[in-house]
Amino acid sequence: MKIEEAQEWVKEAWSKSEKGMSKLVELASLVEECGELAEAIRKIEHGKDCQIDIEKEMGDILLSLITLAIRYDVSLQKAFDKTMESVKKKYIVK
Ligand SMILES: [Mg+2]
Repeated sequence: MKIEEAQEWVKEAWSKSEKGMSKLVELASLVEECGELAEAIRKIEHGKDCQIDIEKEMGDILLSLITLAIRYDVSLQKAFDKTMESVKKKYIVK
């Protein structure tokens, strides 16, 4: 599923949900997920096998980011494309 497809799917799903969260709660959720990823990485760096946790937390972060993007009417696909365009100009040797 592409980013824009995921964003549309989440937007549709959340519009049918009765659970409404404030933007600040959604931001806190994104930060919380980043903390969970940090914890998984910390465990790996201390020798524990948490590869599955890293994958799960990255997925959670993406969902939280998609949710926040919807709330601020940001197309993550456009945002990512712009970022990649900038990165390519800066770092890719032609
Ligand atoms: Mg999580």
